[in-house]
Amino acid sequence: MFLIYCPYCEELREEPEFHAKGQAHIARPQDPEACSDEEWGDYLFFRDNPRGIHHELWVHAIGCRKFFNITRNTVSYEILETYKMGEQPTITAESLSRDDKTADGVQVADGGQQTVGASDSAVNFVRGAKV
Ligand SMILES: [Zn+2]
Repeated sequence: MFLIYCPYCEELREEPEFHAKGQAHIARPQDPEACSDEEWGDYLFFRDNPRGIHHELWVHAIGCRKFFNITRNTVSYEILETYKMGEQPTITAESLSRDDKTADGVQVADGGQQTVGASDSAVNFVRGAKV
């Protein structure tokens, strides 16, 4: 079973309880009336689709029903951390490029949460990081 850590429930829960809601950290323009059509269109419709680290908005739909963010590797589907709304990720594509790009090189700050991913390497990584 694929498990995801909910930062509000503070426990691993089964993946079918969650729904992905798209890219995280998209700020609504302060003054929509001042936006050009292109700026407003970018805000409404265009999203990043990176190969690698991506920050996503998820909701614990069959649980606490709260929104939170996930840092996920889009290549391996490995979830590197989950964090509450209003918080910033501790793992970014830039932080990984400064360090080692492998999963074993990921450093998680205090408060960062690891979750069990779909691959065996993710499971091994979580076990190694948590224990
Ligand atoms: Zn929850």
